[in-house]
Amino acid sequence: MVNKDTGIIQNTAKTTLKAGVIGWPIEHSKSPILHGYWLKKYQIDGIYNKIAITPDNLETGIEKLLNEGYCGFNVTIPYKERIIPLLASIDNVVKKIGAVNTVVIDSDKKLHGFNTDAFGFWQNLQNSVANFTPKSMLLIGAGGAARAVLYSAIKNDVEKIYMVNRTRTRTEALAQEFANSGVRIKVADFSNIADILKNEHIDLLVNSSSIGMAGGGVSFDLSLFDNLQKGAVVYDLVYTPLLTDLLAFAKEKNCQIVDGLGMLIWQAMPAFEKFFGILPKIDNQVRELLLK
Ligand code: NAP
Repeated sequence: MVNKDTGIIQNTAKTTLKAGVIGWPIEHSKSPILHGYWLKKYQIDGIYNKIAITPDNLETGIEKLLNEGYCGFNVTIPYKERIIPLLASIDNVVKKIGAVNTVVIDSDKKLHGFNTDAFGFWQNLQNSVANFTPKSMLLIGAGGAARAVLYSAIKNDVEKIYMVNRTRTRTEALAQEFANSGVRIKVADFSNIADILKNEHIDLLVNSSSIGMAGGGVSFDLSLFDNLQKGAVVYDLVYTPLLTDLLAFAKEKNCQIVDGLGMLIWQAMPAFEKFFGILPKIDNQVRELLLK
């Protein structure tokens, strides 16, 4: 049974709870390690699987999960937006962000969508950099992750935001969507990064694109970041590798760096609670396990 207010499943049937993560490709996902660790730690009768669903088979893939008695699943690339039409309800955060990363299935086999990426992004930042209240941000990327970062930054009073992305029209559309937030959002070209870093005071630089991801074959032209100012915080959502070229470069420039693994852990916490009924605590072991 799902609690209607919290989206948290209450296992009144006392059966093994089945959850997982859907995506394509899905082999790289670390979520099963994370959820598996917490299931064991809290001695919960549950399992968490990697579920590969090919892009032509999203509907049939979901149907299969319903038939197999899943209580919920996480959603990763490329389904965070595509899943929305299949859902019976979405929460207010999803309404703003337009992307879902957590789905809960109720006893009537209806799907309910949530987004915990925004929460994970900000909690990890606050946990990594003490007393940090950024007022300006340069955001790279305009995909599902960028939407969560943008929502989170606006909610937490960042006053001025610059956005760049390979496809400029996507950034413009995103800026338009958030235009009535009261925050100054400026869209620029990739080639403007160096000038923005030189001429504007940027507290926080975030890479929410997949540039720099292992196996992706694309890397940054690091000279774009020559003007990074000492003390600025550089946050890379990419976590394979953990120390991306961008973070290594920022470290050399005496910037504070935040890696994407922390966000992965923080976004999983509320999802785990929805599937399995317990809000897990983060300990050092979980990060070490994920790094293995
Ligand atoms: P997405 O919706 O597919 O968006 C991908 C983004 O990367 C878009 O801005 C895209 O630009 C850009 N991009 C892709 N290939 C590129 C290339 N060759 N050159 C330049 N830009 C390129 O994916 P997403 O969900 O936003 O995820 C983005 C990254 O964040 C992934 O690496 C993902 O693993 C990571 N992430 C991490 C966490 C975490 O917990 N740490 C959570 C969510 C996501 P275009 O618009 O031009 O295509």
